Amino acid sequence: MTGARMKTSDAEISARISGVVNESVTDGPGMRIVVFFQGCGHHCPGCHNPDTWDFNRGDIYQILDLLKHLEISPLIQGVTLSGGDPFYQPRAAAAVAEAFHRMNKDVWAYTGFTWETLMNSKEPAIHALLSQCDVLVDGPFLQAQKTLAHPFRGSSNQRIIDVPQSLRNRMLISWEGLNGFGVD
Ligand code: SF4
Repeated sequence: MTGARMKTSDAEISARISGVVNESVTDGPGMRIVVFFQGCGHHCPGCHNPDTWDFNRGDIYQILDLLKHLEISPLIQGVTLSGGDPFYQPRAAAAVAEAFHRMNKDVWAYTGFTWETLMNSKEPAIHALLSQCDVLVDGPFLQAQKTLAHPFRGSSNQRIIDVPQSLRNRMLISWEGLNGFGVD
């Protein structure tokens, strides 16, 4: 990997990881690293990754070791935090996100929680992770609302959220990339 730097305080954080894809073009714009966090309590019927539900499976990595395993070439636009659900491991996911931001890469995250649930969380680590996300795709996968109309979400209830704008304006603001694809 090239140029990954971490805060010293993050070096000891570990994560339970289901897997990593080093070159994805389907989990956000551009070529991306996708980190699949192990563990998901949402259990959406029709989920494509049920192997990631069990909180006791996957492999445990210290974040520093995980970052060393990633192939972060100059062609990589950013990281996508997926799962499972990275918001069950917010400290670890935030540490990964921060390391990518230090390399001037962007950060997308997928979660089965809604934006409102995360914003109402009393857990500081959840808010720390939100503050490290550029775009969040929120909400559970709902089979009845399954859609192929948008490349970056599975069902139409899921919103593609511009997180910095939403935090700044204290209201949900949709990501408007890909010529307005993010706007319902
Ligand atoms: S949130 Fe995602 S990983 Fe979790 S059950 Fe739903 S679709 Fe599957």
